[in-house]
Amino acid sequence: MTPDAHRVLGACPHDCPDTCSLVTTVENGVAVRVQGNPKHRHTDGVLCAKVSKYTERTHHPERLLTPLKRVGPKGSGQFAPVPWDEALDDIAQRLKAIAARDPQAILPYSYAGTMGLVQGEGMAGRFFHRLGASLLDRTICASAGAEALTQTLGNKVGMKVEHFAEAKLILIWGSNAIGSNLHFWRLAQQAKRDGARLVCIDPRRTETAEKCHEHLAIRPGTDAALAFALMHELIVHNWIDHDYVQRHTLGWDQLRERALQWPPARAAEVCGIPVEQITQLARDYGTTKPAAIRLNYGMQRVRGGGNAVRAVACLPALVGAWRHHAGGLLLSSSGHFPVNRAALQRPDLLGERRPRTINMSTIGDDLLRPASPEFGPAIEALIVYNSNPVAVAPDSSKVAQGFQRDNLFTVVLEQFQTDTADMADYVLPATTQLEHWDIHTSYGHTDVLLNRPAIEPLGEARPNTEVFRQLARRMGFTDACFNDDDLSLCRTALGEQVDFNALLEHGFATLALPEAPFADGHFPTPSGKCEFFSQRLADQGLDGLPDHLPNAELAGTSERYPLAMISPPARNFLNSSFVNVKSLRDIEGEPLLEIHPLDAKARHIRSGEVVRVFNDRGEYRCTARVSERARPGVVNGLGIWWRKLGLNGTNVNELTSQRLTDLGRAPTFYDCLVEVAPAEAG
Ligand code: SF4
Repeated sequence: MTPDAHRVLGACPHDCPDTCSLVTTVENGVAVRVQGNPKHRHTDGVLCAKVSKYTERTHHPERLLTPLKRVGPKGSGQFAPVPWDEALDDIAQRLKAIAARDPQAILPYSYAGTMGLVQGEGMAGRFFHRLGASLLDRTICASAGAEALTQTLGNKVGMKVEHFAEAKLILIWGSNAIGSNLHFWRLAQQAKRDGARLVCIDPRRTETAEKCHEHLAIRPGTDAALAFALMHELIVHNWIDHDYVQRHTLGWDQLRERALQWPPARAAEVCGIPVEQITQLARDYGTTKPAAIRLNYGMQRVRGGGNAVRAVACLPALVGAWRHHAGGLLLSSSGHFPVNRAALQRPDLLGERRPRTINMSTIGDDLLRPASPEFGPAIEALIVYNSNPVAVAPDSSKVAQGFQRDNLFTVVLEQFQTDTADMADYVLPATTQLEHWDIHTSYGHTDVLLNRPAIEPLGEARPNTEVFRQLARRMGFTDACFNDDDLSLCRTALGEQVDFNALLEHGFATLALPEAPFADGHFPTPSGKCEFFSQRLADQGLDGLPDHLPNAELAGTSERYPLAMISPPARNFLNSSFVNVKSLRDIEGEPLLEIHPLDAKARHIRSGEVVRVFNDRGEYRCTARVSERARPGVVNGLGIWWRKLGLNGTNVNELTSQRLTDLGRAPTFYDCLVEVAPAEAG
C-alpha cells in the first residue's frame, strides 16, 4: 500500500449465497484493489474471479456517468445526455399524469442486481407504496424453493454452512458449487480431506460434479423421483430414525405410503440413471452420520420444482440428520435474519389501497396485455432498477416486444447500457457497491454485513435511494421517511437485532443462533414439526404431500423438439452481471451450447460450429461445444449473455417459457424442449 492509500470494508452485493466481506484499497480517490476480508470466516480472504475484478467493473470505460434521454426510436439505443434536474422533473411529470388516472398503471421492476436491503427496496419500496403503484411479485429466482422450504421446515432456514466441514456425507444437489457457491465448496473440500464422501446430483457434469466421488446425472425435473426412491430404500432397509420421525414430523404414514410407490427401478427409469446409483446413494444416506445436503436453486426451475424441494427437504428428518450440527440441509439461510421490512419499505404508506400484483416472471405477457376488468389498467410506466429483464426474464422475444411499445414510459436505473437500458426513455446512472452505503443479510450463511462507500460516486452517478428521494419530492410526497439518509436506512433494516457498532467496526456481525437448530424439533411451522404433510397446502386445494410432477415439456413427448435444455450460468458470469467485463467475457469466449457427442453426431454437429437452437418460442444461435458435460438428451445453454452480445441479437431466454412452477409462481427456465441444427442447415 502506498502512504496515501486506505482500506474500506464492504460487502459483495451480488446474487450469490456467499455474501463475502470485501476490503477495498483506495488510492487518491480511486479503488485500486478489492480483496476478500481475511477476518471474516466465511470469506476467509478469498473472492471469486468475478468480484476480484471489481475495480475493472467499477472504473469500466462504459460506466454510465450521466443521465440519458432517448433521442431515437424505442430500442435503438440512441440517447443524449441530460441534466439530472431535467430528467427527474420530466419523469415526475409523466408519473404524476399516469398516477392521476390510476397509479397501478406504474410498475416497479427490480430484483437482485444488488442484494442490499437499502439500495434494493429501501427507499424504492417507500416510493412505490406511497405512489400506490402495482406491486411486483419477485419470483424470478428462488420463490419455488422458498415456498417449498416454508411449507416443510417453516421458513427459509437450515443448517449452518460452516458445519458442512464436519459432515461425513455431502449431497450437492442442483448446484455447481465451484461456480456459484465457492466458499461452501471450500468447506466441502475440507470435509473430503477428513474422509467425507461427496455426491453431486445434477443433469450437467459440472466442474463440481467432476470433483465429487459420485455424480448422478439425472434428467432435468426428476429430482423428486430420486428423493422418493431414496425414501423407499430408507423404509425397506429400516434406516429411518423412528424416534425423530415420531416426535418431530407430521404426515409420516401418508409420506411412507407414497414413497413405497417409488422402488429404485421406477426412479431409475424416470431419472435416466442406473438403478445401482440410487441404491448405493440410499445406503450411504441411510447409514452415514452426519449426512448433509446442500440444495441449490437449479432443481426448482421446472414445473414440479416446489414439490421436488419439498421431497428433498423431508429426507433429513427421516434419518434424524437434524440431530447433529453437521447434518441436515441448507437451501437458504435468509429466514434466520430478523429484517424489519415494514420499517424499511413502509407498506403502511399504501393506506387503504390494495394494488394488484404483477408477477415479474410473466412480464413478457403482462407488458402486452390491454386493460381489462381482470388485469386492471395496461402497464403504462415501468421503473427498472437492479434488474435486466430484457436479458433475464423468460420468453424474451415477448419481453423485448413489450418493452418496445411506443406507449410505454420506461426509466432504467443502471450502471451499464444493458439490453434493458437500450429500451429506456430515460437511463439514470447508478452507483456501484464501492460508491454507496448498504446493509446485507445472506442466503448462504448467517452473518450481517455492512457496506461502506469506498470512493465518491463516479461522474454524476447516484445511489438508487437518492433517485427515489428526489422523485418523491417532485411528486409532492412530504412524508418524513423520504428524508432518511442511507446510514439511517442501514440502521433501520435490522433495528436492535444486530450490534450496529460491531458492524461499523468489523464490517460484519454474526447472528446468535443454535448450532443444530432442529435437533429437538421446534421447526417454525404451524405444528412445530417438519411437515411432510402440509395442511396449509391442502387448505389451498393442493396436494398436502410432496409428489413427483413431470416436466411440462417432458423429454420424449415431442418429435419436433426432442432435446431437453437447461440454462445454467456460465462460470464467469452471475446472471447477466459481468457479461460486459471484458476480461471475464474473454474467458467465456462466446455463447455456448454443450451437447453430448451422441446427440451431436445424430445432427451432424461439430464442436466449434454455430448452431441454431429453436422451439416454437424462438431461435437462438450460439456455438456448439460437443462435450460429455451434457448428458444424452439434454443440452446446456450457458447463460446469461446479453442479447446484443449474442450472435443473432438473442440469448438463451429466447427459448424459455413463461409457464410457472407448482409452488411459488416461479419461472420454469429448465423445463424447456428444443431442437438443435447446424446453422447453415437453417
Ligand atoms: S459473487 Fe459470491 S463468491 Fe464472488 S465475491 Fe460475491 S459473494 Fe463472494
